[in-house]
Amino acid sequence: MDFALTEEQEFFRKTVADTIDRMVVPLAAEIDKKDEFPWDLWRDFAKLGYLGLRYPEEIGGMNADPVTAMLFYEEIARGSVGFAQSVIMNILMGTYFIYRFGSEEIKKRCLYPAMRGEKVATMCFTEDQSGSDLAATRTTVTKDGDYWVLNGTKMWITNGPIADMLTILATTDPSLGVKGLNFFLVEKGYPGFSSGQVLDKLGCRGTITGEIVLDHVRVPAENLLGEELNKGVEYLTEILDEVRVMTGAMALGIARAAYAEGLEYARKRVAFGNPIGAYQLIRAKFAEMGTEMEAARLLVYYAAWRIKEGLSCRKEAGMAKMLATETCLKVVDEVTRIWGANAFAQEYNPQRHFRDARFLLYGGGTHEILKDFLGRLLIGKMDAPRKK
Ligand SMILES: Cc1cc2nc3c(=O)[nH]c(=O)nc-3n(C[C@H](O)[C@H](O)[C@H](O)COP(=O)(O)OP(=O)(O)OC[C@H]3O[C@@H](n4cnc5c(N)ncnc54)[C@H](O)[C@@H]3O)c2cc1C
Repeated sequence: MDFALTEEQEFFRKTVADTIDRMVVPLAAEIDKKDEFPWDLWRDFAKLGYLGLRYPEEIGGMNADPVTAMLFYEEIARGSVGFAQSVIMNILMGTYFIYRFGSEEIKKRCLYPAMRGEKVATMCFTEDQSGSDLAATRTTVTKDGDYWVLNGTKMWITNGPIADMLTILATTDPSLGVKGLNFFLVEKGYPGFSSGQVLDKLGCRGTITGEIVLDHVRVPAENLLGEELNKGVEYLTEILDEVRVMTGAMALGIARAAYAEGLEYARKRVAFGNPIGAYQLIRAKFAEMGTEMEAARLLVYYAAWRIKEGLSCRKEAGMAKMLATETCLKVVDEVTRIWGANAFAQEYNPQRHFRDARFLLYGGGTHEILKDFLGRLLIGKMDAPRKK
């Protein structure tokens, strides 16, 4: 059993961590407060090549393996979750189907500029009436000669209001449920495409999130991102594990940032004549947080390693996302207790970590959905209940 990162991965982690400490950490509070997209930082990250993290070197990417990518997700979330969310959307979900199914023309127009930070990408599943339940998708797509015509509204779209290219989930027939779903590329400027409400969010501020409206948007046949019609959900499963491990890695990053704040405060804050870290009840918090973070890290890294090795990972990825997120939620909560009233002040970071961590609950599957899925996986197929 080998728990060590390779020399290359270790070097990458150190380089990214230094970059985050220098370029992101000092801006994180301001990004949160202003809730504006940090374009300068975005361009700096593009120059460093991070926006092409997962893609091959031949097309200008970094060719990072899934473990290396996970190290990046963890570090950038440690710096600023708002910024991390936009960057990761561009690197992973927003471009994956374009890379996988796009023609060379589409890649030239969309993927390569996104890797250079010249264009912003996103992915749209969620609608007003449906999030977890993809079968309830109401955005429709119909064929009209050589074109597809999309109609519907998407909600909660990360980067949506600033996106140049959107991978849109739409159904050919709502009565088919998940068997009617497909991904289509829509680009800003197509007639009928517009961005609607911009959401004022609790956390992950700095990422611009909002509504997307598709009113008879005509896209050419080649914008169907898939080899076969109605196989969208099958294609989605290709990145589902990575999305879950990525969310777990982000949870590790937020937990580390909050934990470090908690540690610093426990060492310097004096009550009843001693630093509060001298009291057993406070020390117990660190013992628990440290242990649970370590356990979550092992599971997240293990799941990433399984993806890298091409091993099945559905169970481990779901567990990793859930454990790391629940651990993170506990850590950000404990740190607000350790900081006392100061945790309630916008001036300090614990309240930001507390707010940001909540978002992890939703992406990659809510924990109710994950528990249901994992439970079914672990128990196996059950016989129908015996009739009386
Ligand atoms: C900051 C942020 C950014 C986001 N970015 C994007 C984006 O870029 N693109 C995108 O498409 N979406 C995005 N989302 C939306 C996200 O993917 C959804 O929130 C998620 O899929 C859950 O859907 P929902 O919020 O509609 O909740 P619902 O699915 O309506 O669920 C509501 C509650 O019911 C529970 N529930 C549902 N079904 C069951 C069941 N069968 N058994 C038990 N409990 C159940 C859920 O667990 C949850 O607690 C974003 C959300 C946030 C907060």
